[in-house]
Amino acid sequence: MSSILIQHIAQLVNVREENQLLRGTALANLPVIEDAFVLIEDGIIAQYGHMYELELKVPQLPKYIIDADEQFVLPTWCDSHTHIVFAKTREEEFIDKLNGMSYADIAAKGGGILNSANKLNEASEYDLFNSARKRLEELSKLGTGAIEIKSGYGLTVEGELKMLRVIKKLKEKSNLSIKSTFLGAHTYPVAYKENRAGYIDSIINQMLPVIAAEKLADYIDCFCETGFFSPEEMETICKAGMSYGLKPKLHVNQLNSIGGIESAIKLNALSVDHLETMTDDDIKLLSSSNTIGTLFANGCFLLKNALPTCQAVN
Ligand SMILES: [Zn+2]
Repeated sequence: MSSILIQHIAQLVNVREENQLLRGTALANLPVIEDAFVLIEDGIIAQYGHMYELELKVPQLPKYIIDADEQFVLPTWCDSHTHIVFAKTREEEFIDKLNGMSYADIAAKGGGILNSANKLNEASEYDLFNSARKRLEELSKLGTGAIEIKSGYGLTVEGELKMLRVIKKLKEKSNLSIKSTFLGAHTYPVAYKENRAGYIDSIINQMLPVIAAEKLADYIDCFCETGFFSPEEMETICKAGMSYGLKPKLHVNQLNSIGGIESAIKLNALSVDHLETMTDDDIKLLSSSNTIGTLFANGCFLLKNALPTCQAVN
């Protein structure tokens, strides 16, 4: 057994005996132990406490001891919503934004998600894997230990499967804990602009069976927004995903409140993400559910958009 003792920690941060979802005022409570130690055995926290409890709790000290020298020890970050598999950045769209174009304007002229999709479909699985792996390494150095990664820039059967296979390979090669989310319903591809039902059919009958057979995803996602997927369409897609065991994690209420929260709660979604545009009813519904609300305030700051009509990065 390999054991590591970290001692003389100024603060051991976020010490909790129970692993449960925090809501409301509980989120404001950050339990810490001052002048602490933590013992790790085979990668698992085996013991922890105040330094004055060390002798009692760890009668036999391990060989490998790290002196924290009054520094802090805290859990790694959990990045629960990322799009780190992509072919190229789209900084050229900043110029359009600075010239006053909205997210919807840029999307309508083939920018945004469609722009990323064109670039991704031209890229090889090999290149996508290598670039995403570098991004993962950078995130790891910044303290991320667990991460969710979405597809959604393929928008074709081949493109979506390519992205998910890249994520599967990242899971195999990385030390980070990775979860994969299928986001075929990120937007309607140009080829299906006049045939939305046809694209939903492709998601359900062409993509999902392969994803399930190859175990390519843990969750299913959908961009529920005016001009993208309606709450009803999101429900249809999610129910098909759920029949394969994929739990919904959803993009809702970014630009408009169109009933996405209500549908997400009906679907017992794990999380609803973005939430820049919330009505009082949305807040009430969400606060009485088990669904996690994920806020994206930094996206608005990055794009210099003011809340609540902000337009965050997808
Ligand atoms: Zn997103």
